[in-house]
This record gives sequence, C-alpha cells and structure tokens, in this order.
Amino acid sequence: MDELARLGFLRERLQQYSREYYGVDMPTIPDAEYDALFRELVALENRYPHLRTADSPTEQVGFLERRREVRLVPHLQPMLSLVNGFEMSDVAEFDRRIREGLNQETVEYCCEPKFDGLAVNLLYRYGRWVQGATRGDGEMGEEVSANLRTLSCLPVQLAGAGWPEWIEVRGEVFMLKQDFAELNQRQRAAGERPFVNPRNAAAGALRQLDPTETARRPLSFYAYGVGGVSPEFVLPDTQAELLVWLAQWGFPVTGEIRTVRGLSGLTSFFDDLQTRRTDLPYEVDGVVYKVNELALQQALGFITRAPRFALAHKFPAEEALTRVLDIEIQVGRTGVLTPVAVLAPVFVGGVTVTRATLHNEEEIRRKDVRCGDQVWVRRAGDVIPEVVAVVQAERQGNSSMFSMPAHCPVCGSLVQRLPEEIAYRCGGGLLCSAQRKQSLLHFASRRAMNIEGLGDKLVDAVVDLGWVQEPADLYRLSRDQWASLPRMAEKSAENLLVALERSKATTFERFLIALGIRQVGERTARDLALHFGSLEVLMHADESALQAVPEVGPVVARAVAVFFADPRQCHIISHLQQVGVTWPQPHRTQADHRPLTGQSFVLTGTLTCSRAEAQRRIEEAGGKVNGSLSRSTTYLVVGHDPGGKVDQAQRLGVAQIDETQWMTLLHKERNRDDAQADS
Ligand code: NAD
Repeated sequence: MDELARLGFLRERLQQYSREYYGVDMPTIPDAEYDALFRELVALENRYPHLRTADSPTEQVGFLERRREVRLVPHLQPMLSLVNGFEMSDVAEFDRRIREGLNQETVEYCCEPKFDGLAVNLLYRYGRWVQGATRGDGEMGEEVSANLRTLSCLPVQLAGAGWPEWIEVRGEVFMLKQDFAELNQRQRAAGERPFVNPRNAAAGALRQLDPTETARRPLSFYAYGVGGVSPEFVLPDTQAELLVWLAQWGFPVTGEIRTVRGLSGLTSFFDDLQTRRTDLPYEVDGVVYKVNELALQQALGFITRAPRFALAHKFPAEEALTRVLDIEIQVGRTGVLTPVAVLAPVFVGGVTVTRATLHNEEEIRRKDVRCGDQVWVRRAGDVIPEVVAVVQAERQGNSSMFSMPAHCPVCGSLVQRLPEEIAYRCGGGLLCSAQRKQSLLHFASRRAMNIEGLGDKLVDAVVDLGWVQEPADLYRLSRDQWASLPRMAEKSAENLLVALERSKATTFERFLIALGIRQVGERTARDLALHFGSLEVLMHADESALQAVPEVGPVVARAVAVFFADPRQCHIISHLQQVGVTWPQPHRTQADHRPLTGQSFVLTGTLTCSRAEAQRRIEEAGGKVNGSLSRSTTYLVVGHDPGGKVDQAQRLGVAQIDETQWMTLLHKERNRDDAQADS
C-alpha cells in the first residue's frame, strides 16, 4: 500500500474505532494500538500537509453519533482532547516548546493523574446545577443530566458563596476498581458478560437511557478544570488554586496533585505515580501536565483538538488483544491442575506476555475461553497476566468449550475433584513427575532447605533422567552426575554439592516447611515446631493434640495427621534422616512448658526491637500479642513515644510495663526454665 492509500486507510480505520469506542463503549482494539495508528496518521499528514482535512481524526475530538432518544447540547466553551506523549523525549519536547513559547527558563506546572473514565461538563447557574453533558465531539455533547444526578458526590448547589453567574465545571466520571470488581461479580452471577475495564463500564453506565440503570452502577467523579465562565468573574491565578476552589465549592478533587518546576519535576511526578499506579483505588492511564498559571495557559492557546499548554503523558498500556494458541494444564506441587492459556506473544504492562493463568475450570467456563479465541489480556503492575474477556464476534470455526481432562496430562493418574474444592487434583502424588518436580523445588526453596543453585532446569533434568524420585535422592547424586547435566560444569557441580551439604544442617521448622504438608505454611510450621519440639512427637500427635497448638484448627490438624499417617511420607522422612539431614533438638518444648502461657500482651510506642521481633519473642514464650486492649490483657508494654493506649490501659486497669521490665519478665521465665531443664 503506498503512503497516500495508507493515509486514507488509517483515517477510515480510526474513525471506525472511535465510533466503537465512544459510540457504543465497545473498543475492538487496545488503546495502545489505536494510539500507534493515530501517530502514524499524524506523521503522514505532516509529510503531506496539503492532504490534511477538517474531518480527519487528527482534527477531531471524540465522536458523536446522534441517538434519537438523547438530546444534544452545545458546550459554552469547546471540550478538547489532550496531546499525548509516550516517551520521556515527548515530555522534554513539550517542556522545550512551552519554555520557548513563554520565553521562560523554567516553567511551573500543575501535575495531575489522568483518570481513565469519560469527561463530563456540568453547567451551574447562580451556584445551582442545571445541566450535565458528555464531551461528545467537543462542540456538542449528549445531555445526561438525569444520569449524572445519580452520582451523589456531585453538588446540586455549590457550597460557600461568590460563585460566577454561570460556569462549566469539567471533570472525569469513572468507576473505582473495587466497584468495578463488584459490578463484574454481579454481572457474572446474573449470567451477563463482564465488562472489559472500568472505563467502558463507566461510559456505558453514564450513557444508559434509563437513569435507574445508571444508578445501579457505582460511578465516581473528580473535577479537574472549568470551561466557559461568565465574563465578569475573576478566576484564581493558577490551576492548582482553581482545584482548591472547586473542592471548596463541594466537588471531589483528587489529593494526587503536585505543583512542580521544570522537566525534572514532571518526570519525578510521573515516576512516582507510575510506581503507585496499581495501589490507587481508581484506574489512571497516565498523568496530565498543565502550565500552572492560567494567564500563561491563555497566552499559549490551542491547536484544533487540544490545548498547547497541557500534555497527557501515558503509562504503558495494561491491556492488549491477542489470540489463545492453546490451553495447557499445569500440575502443581499438591497436584492441583491449573489451566493456562498459551498466547500469541503480546506486549502488555511493559513486558511480553506468552502465558496467562485461567485459574480453574469454573473461571474458564464463566469467561468461555476456547482455543483460537481472540482475547483481552491484562497485566497490571506485577500481577500475573490474566485473560479478561473473549471477543466473541471473532470466534472462528467450531471450537468447543473447555473441560478438565479425566487423567493427569503428565502421569496419567486419575484426576479427582473433592466435593468441597473448586480445584481438580491429580491423584498421582509423588508418582507424578510434575508434582515431584514442584515438590523438589519447594523442598530446595530459600525458606525451606535453602539449597542455593538448585533451580527448575536442574530439577527437570534429574527427574526426567529418573535419578531423583524423592528429596533424599538429591543428596545421593555424585559430582560427576551433576557435572554431566546441561549448562553444568565441574565448578558449578562442586558449588551445588557444597550447597547440598550445607543444607543438611537445618532447623525443625525449615524441615517441616520443606516437607510441603498441605495447609502448613511458614507460620504453622513454626508453631508446630515450637509446640512439639521433636519430629517423633509431632508424627504421633493425633488431631486433638494438634489442635492444642494455638492457631491450628481442625482443617490444618487433619491435613497434618493425614500426612504423617501416610507410610510413603514416613519413608521420605527417614530417607532424609539417613542421608544426614539433621536439626538441633530443643532442650525444652512448648508442649512441656510455655512460660508466658495464658498471658496476653499489647504493644505501644517504639521498642528497641521491631514489632515483629517483639511478637515473636512473646509467642515463643507462649504469650499472645493482641492489637487492641481489653480488660483481659495481662500487660501493656510501653515503648518510646506511646499512643493513646496508655490512657486506655489506665481506664481498663491493665498493668503497664516498660521494655526493661518486659525483658526481665522474659529472662526471668527463661532462667527459671533453664534451671528446671538442667535439674
Ligand atoms: P485522552 O483520553 O488522551 O485525553 C483527554 C481526556 O483526558 C479528557 O477528555 C479527559 O476526559 C481526560 N482526563 C483525565 N484526567 C484528566 C485531567 N486531570 N485533566 C484533564 N483531562 C483529563 O483523549 P481522548 O480524546 O479522550 O481520547 C483519545 C484516547 O482514547 C486515545 O489516545 C486512545 O487511547 C483512546 N481511544 C481508543 C480507541 C480504541 O478503539 N481503543 C478509540 C478511540 C480513542
């Protein structure tokens, strides 16, 4: 296709995408792709300026299609778009243009989050809200007053006094992440298709014909500016002050606003918000930089579709479209079968994604994900990529719904689903090489036996070669065997042998973690180790003895009892002991004596050790640490700079001790124990 044909093609395509995005709130391509095509069109139009026309998407704001049932209203001042920047070089270029335009060395900017929702225009006369509209094509918008009135956060009457005769307040309607998740849960429960993202859900909700339908979908709003204002009214000097005024009039305004100077201020605002992006309660697709002084904004003016004084600096997209090439089953350490979508590689959330978890069968069925489907993939922050939705219209051929295999794809054992579980499990246990590999990796992990250098490639190799059936076999392999494995040499084999040897001297707690008993995480392993002190005692504990351990309930007790009742596990343990795995035997156990048993502690103020450490010491001695005081609290431990708990303790009659007294208490108990143990 030659460049001119490409130019026509791009215009047509971008118009179609805008219609889908703004007209029916159902985008069919990701924003990042739209933005890339848009930039390509801008570049072509710059090369052939005589072909630039007023109806090109590069000259237009949004999209407006007349719906018979909805009234269109003009904005008193046009609602524009924003120039987008993607790279730091775009920001530098923006700052350079502004500095040159204003003839200033350093410019002050107001930095704001770019909320990912849709813009609305709220018209107030004499402080009373009279009309609300969408942005539409920038000149005219859809009148959605009745729908907007369902947002209780919007002031019907402005607070304070001294408002202009008329004013257009502008801001973004959006959906909080939490509200979006709950809305989608309700959609699923009602058998309806979930929304792809909060933006589309918010836009769809606001453009409903029936306001009661809008009211059912929780919407939020942040004000970020004004449009037309009656001429006699004097606005404040800066954008930052304007936002304060809007807040004083009763509009929600975000607290994430900063006034900065120069390019370095812009980039540090961007970096800061980007790192906190996933923690924000709402979606942001970037940040907006605005020249802070309103008079300077006016001096800089506008291009056709956007102001010159502002830039939207976009974050990397978190959503992308791709195709499901296959659905694979992964078998985990405890035999759980997890379906995983193998995807055509796609760049999303700043990385190339090729696999996305589908969680479980129920989840796949709910989303109806099938091989060959085109799907929206989302990767937000460090969260594991997930398939959000299927583009049903793109489904090809006669694909069938996914179902779990009856046999484990790795070892062929029967797959079972326990009545109380969602998950399907392979019944092969350690006979299943997938489970064996995962178990060995868990065994070797940092918090378990901490065998440095034993990663998944080596584990795969030694299991596939049939050299390792159970953890003890790891300790039986020779230097030559390790050295013969791919990517291993004499030196790395030697290092691994040293790491293996070192790991043999472990602790009871680590050994329990390494065994991979179901329901037993690090904390429970510690509690069990402390309580029982020796493996022999623990192995013979029945469920009621296990439940005597603080925090161990019937489910955990049952899992532990079932584990030690299995003769195969007992063999695995004794083989480990035979190869030399040991740990120091305690000279007392909590089961024998728990010095602070029955005593409860609350901590306040700063102690010389961390809170976690203080809690550990008390718990080791059998005491409990609570977050809040009650009459039954034994001691309030008062550190430096204590809070209101001191007064509260006085009112409740709870004894207060300082850190030295607390230490004495711990040591006194320990000295008494040691004396008893020695006698
Ligand atoms: P924009 O979203 O890039 O920027 C303008 C909008 O930003 C304003 O209208 C306002 O709603 C919003 N905004 C959020 N926070 C703001 C703040 N603090 N201050 C000022 N404004 C703020 O521009 P646009 O014209 O609304 O849309 C263009 C973008 O929409 C494209 O870059 C693309 O990502 C997306 N789009 C996608 C498709 C698709 O098919 N996927 C189609 C059309 C448009």
